[in-house]
Amino acid sequence: MSNWAARAAELTLETRLFIDGEFRVALDGATFDSFSPRDGKLIAAISAAGAADVDLAVRAAARAFESGVWSRADRRERQRVLFRLSELMLENLDELALLESLDSGHPIGDSRRVDVPNAARTVRWYAEAIDKIYDEVAPTPQNALALVTREALGVVGAVVPWNYPLIITAWKIAPALAAGNSVVLKPAELTSLSALKLAQLAVEAGMPAGVFSVVPGLGAVAGQALGRHPLVDKITFTGSPAVGRRFLSYAGESNGKQVALELGGKSPQVVLADVEDIAACASAIAWGIFYNAGQTCHGGSRLIIDERVHDAVLTEVLAVGRSLVLGDPLDDDTQIGAIASQIQLDRVLAYTAIARDESAVVHGGNRVTVDGLSGGYFVEPTVFDRVDNAGRIGQEEIFGPVLSVSTVRGAAEAVRVANDSAYGLAASVWTANITTAHAIARELRAGTVWVNTFDVADVITPFGGFKASGSGRDRSLHAFDAYTALKTTWINLGNSPLNND
Ligand code: NAD
Repeated sequence: MSNWAARAAELTLETRLFIDGEFRVALDGATFDSFSPRDGKLIAAISAAGAADVDLAVRAAARAFESGVWSRADRRERQRVLFRLSELMLENLDELALLESLDSGHPIGDSRRVDVPNAARTVRWYAEAIDKIYDEVAPTPQNALALVTREALGVVGAVVPWNYPLIITAWKIAPALAAGNSVVLKPAELTSLSALKLAQLAVEAGMPAGVFSVVPGLGAVAGQALGRHPLVDKITFTGSPAVGRRFLSYAGESNGKQVALELGGKSPQVVLADVEDIAACASAIAWGIFYNAGQTCHGGSRLIIDERVHDAVLTEVLAVGRSLVLGDPLDDDTQIGAIASQIQLDRVLAYTAIARDESAVVHGGNRVTVDGLSGGYFVEPTVFDRVDNAGRIGQEEIFGPVLSVSTVRGAAEAVRVANDSAYGLAASVWTANITTAHAIARELRAGTVWVNTFDVADVITPFGGFKASGSGRDRSLHAFDAYTALKTTWINLGNSPLNND
């Protein structure tokens, strides 16, 4: 057992709701159990927000917004608090990473090197931008001055999934808070711990009460209450398409609030016959799907490959898959950790039988046991070859370490098959010809297209989907537009006094 497991046992966990600047249990005392996917054991009973708790959090957020304590505060004060929050996240890197890995099954190395630093960088990046965005002056006639200014929306409800809890939370709360909104965050049932730690750090950073609340709870209860609340001005959601559509209904049936959706994906990795560096391509393809045990919304789950390079590339992809260290998320050497829950494990494993039914060639597809963690949810890196893209394996989001391979001939067929999907979150194309790369990048219906690489990303570029993958965009300065409304102030200047002289 690694040192991290011993440290996890010594953690003092915050399990209460965080509302209006205070930690407190749910009004009706309800809790839900949170289990660790590394061993299937109970981590803690977490307070479960009911509709009345969500109402308290939203009303506190609205009060804070109206008071101006944050929304009208000097921009440098908002910067100071968010800079401090970012610093505190890095000062508490080990604890945040441990909570994240314990809860989600991420390898601790990834949580420490990727998740927590990225989340802290996101908070800092939006804080830096606060006093660098200018408003507009419209080209009016001489007798008027029209200002176009951005104003915070009010109360933002952020509802996030379990696959990258801290990073996705940061993508939403950082621009929303930087723009002056109040935020009520509903973490996923499986992963509430890092969000509650973030609330502690926000208090330490000096965030005024009510501006940022965290209401863990069941989606159908707490998530729904937030989605239907008449004082919530915007919902920003990341999760499954089915729940995303519910939020559209909640909005339509309540106050018509704005809804931004970041949903799932079935991202194609297109490899053409002229691919130059087969080793680099195969490594990117394998990591593009196996990283985080395939629980990545933009994971490159479909390999669309020209038949002339199929064998050479696939042999290397399989070799990379076999070389990855699958193990205890709390072991520093682990590269592939656990599937987040028993339900998700069963879902992923069910696709092995479906692949056989659809006559795919199956490599892997089994649950594996990690030493000393018999209750853990681990699945080996899996490849389904010779997949008909039109079947269930080619079309459905599996959300596990499973690559589906479909063979094509030539660029035109590759693009047609790549676009034959309800989703459109991300895609990649591998080719030595830059003209072909540009032409294909334009044709692929996806929010992000990588050329000769996969999954390189940063807060500096927008992220979101086309088609069933949703309509919202996280990251980049465009996120400020998502959390502000434009206001026109038209000033009549009348006749110029100079004309009266
Ligand atoms: P989910 O949709 O079940 O849950 C997401 C959030 O919605 C959770 O906080 C949950 O509590 C809440 N929720 C669930 N049911 C609800 C309801 N009836 N009313 C209101 N809220 C409800 O998704 P998940 O299982 O947490 O995440 C996996 C899915 O999310 C996958 O499909 C994945 O592709 C997608 N995803 C997309 C992105 C992206 O950026 N596009 C990122 C991560 C995950």
